[in-house]
Amino acid sequence: MSDDLASTIDVAALRAKYDAERDKRLRRDGEAQYMAPVGDHDRYITHDPFVKERTERAPLNDEVEVVVLGGGWTGLLTSVRLTEAGIRDIRVIEDGSDFGGTWYWNRYPGAQCDIESYVYIPLLEETGYMPKEKYSYAPEMYEHAQRIAKQYDLYDKALFQTRVGEVHWDEADKRWIVTTNRGDRIRARFFICAIGPFSRLRLPDIPGFDDYEGHSFHTSRWDFDYTGGDHSGNLTKLADKKVAIIGTGATAVQAVPHLGKWAKHLYVFQRTPSSVDVRGNKPTDPNWVKSLKPGWKRERSDNFNTVVRGEPFEVDLVNDGWTDIFRRVPIVHAVGALEQASKDDMAERQSRLELADFEKMEEIRARVDELVHDPATAEALKPWYAQFCKRPCFNDDYLPTFNRPNVTLVDVSATRGVERVTKKGLVANGKEYEVDCIIYATGFEVSGTYRRRYGFEVYGRNGIDLYDHWEKGMRTLHGHSIHNFPNYFIVGLTQVGGSWNYCAIVDEVAKQVSYIIAQTQKAGDDAVVEVTAKGEDAWVKTIRSYAGYNDKFLESCTPGYYNNEGKFKESVATFSGDYYAPGSNAFNKILEDWRASGKMEGMAIIK
Ligand code: NDP
Repeated sequence: MSDDLASTIDVAALRAKYDAERDKRLRRDGEAQYMAPVGDHDRYITHDPFVKERTERAPLNDEVEVVVLGGGWTGLLTSVRLTEAGIRDIRVIEDGSDFGGTWYWNRYPGAQCDIESYVYIPLLEETGYMPKEKYSYAPEMYEHAQRIAKQYDLYDKALFQTRVGEVHWDEADKRWIVTTNRGDRIRARFFICAIGPFSRLRLPDIPGFDDYEGHSFHTSRWDFDYTGGDHSGNLTKLADKKVAIIGTGATAVQAVPHLGKWAKHLYVFQRTPSSVDVRGNKPTDPNWVKSLKPGWKRERSDNFNTVVRGEPFEVDLVNDGWTDIFRRVPIVHAVGALEQASKDDMAERQSRLELADFEKMEEIRARVDELVHDPATAEALKPWYAQFCKRPCFNDDYLPTFNRPNVTLVDVSATRGVERVTKKGLVANGKEYEVDCIIYATGFEVSGTYRRRYGFEVYGRNGIDLYDHWEKGMRTLHGHSIHNFPNYFIVGLTQVGGSWNYCAIVDEVAKQVSYIIAQTQKAGDDAVVEVTAKGEDAWVKTIRSYAGYNDKFLESCTPGYYNNEGKFKESVATFSGDYYAPGSNAFNKILEDWRASGKMEGMAIIK
């Protein structure tokens, strides 16, 4: 970072501005401002707009070795790693009508990978596939999910259009009993929850929500019958429609340019502006592809994890907007890994990082002035918080969309959200906006209570309710196993090493779980594996030993799912606190060492 710029930044004034913008948005109800799509609101999830009709079938009453819940990246990676470990009696249960998960459901216009596709998209070397661009669009990822499923023979093992309602452990039988919304009763020796963090959409509990008589849908169930067009745009049926979109997070930033282009009028209801940097997408360079050596994907992915965690690095392979800040801060290289840094080094490091962030965000705000003509609109679009307080966005068309005469930005920050839904539209700042359609770009249950996040009931030994077991916070060994829940696994973001690159996390957990299941099978047909109370305690202690390390940062941020809507200190279901703080590379090493030792430390196989 240039010393000139550092000397021109008024740190105290910026901190005060950030605090004021955060306080303006903090709500007493925190997570409770959102509602799950249940009861009358289940219409937002039960209709699959991407298939003509539901396939009817008789309920199943049978047995399989492993049920994998979820057919997105997590379920696919888990199934692939199980297959590689020689475990083939698998049934994948999936709500969608095909594999793909997030990329099955999120087909909204403009949907795109926000992380570099070469590090994000899994199993590239195994399938011999190379993404067409640095940042892939949704259809390419959906197709890749299908490619994986075909290559690993997973279609025969899939139960689509099926939602699990409850799983409970039958002690006498040593089996999980899995019941579904299709009347199935499946016995499974092992159950793996692989549903990913973005599978449960959330709706804002705005007064009058049910009064609206126009058309409405959530972005993860985009209604192309209504809008016309497809993922690439062409929303011709909106030519005579007034449309409102609520939310300006990563999803809306990608969809708004298309809505602005095609709707008669678009109202964008914004509570907190996103930080929107340059995307600069480009086609994959064939010469670069030729130069790659086997193992390149893991190397690149580990490098990305290292850089964005602020650890020392020699080369930044991804070299994009995610890694930008870390290239600017030489102290990060000098200090070394966070855990090894001395107190003085840490303070110095924090202050340099804060300055680099201020510099970055000044650039982001200057970009708004450059691209948005109306000064009042530009002012409202400027984000006043640190870049990683919310998912940073990268898009070259979003900001210029606000120069269109048919696009209106409605700032609802003063009232902490849209005030009211009426029969005909939305009320904000005392004014009613009549619209033909409301699109909810209000995100997912990433940080709600565990019961809401998972959306199905789990009962372990003696009927113990999983979410009661976690009443005072999540408890696992290495994020995948829970005491009193034998043969039950989670592959996901629970108490594992954090990274911005989701697939890099879950692939390693999938390998670990597959290894444990294979070991258990070797012990006999009725062997059961479970984490011991001691094993679980030890890992929870490790996770909690880092508690508070990031509090100052989270407190400084505007509310959102990263900080449990500003209430992370009051919530037991914290989003960011449930990570192994040293990061995913360090965590993956723990798993690799654990397997290499062969001791199954912290777990017991009971015959
Ligand atoms: P978010 O949770 O990020 O955004 C929800 C939006 O709705 C926010 O702007 C929020 O405002 C707004 N909102 C909620 N309630 C109200 C209300 N009552 N009135 C007005 N506005 C309201 O959801 P997204 O779907 O945008 O993104 C979720 C995540 O999905 C991302 O963070 C990212 O991780 C992932 N994603 C990944 C992509 C990829 O390429 N891999 C692409 C798109 C998304 P506020 O900020 O004030 O709370």
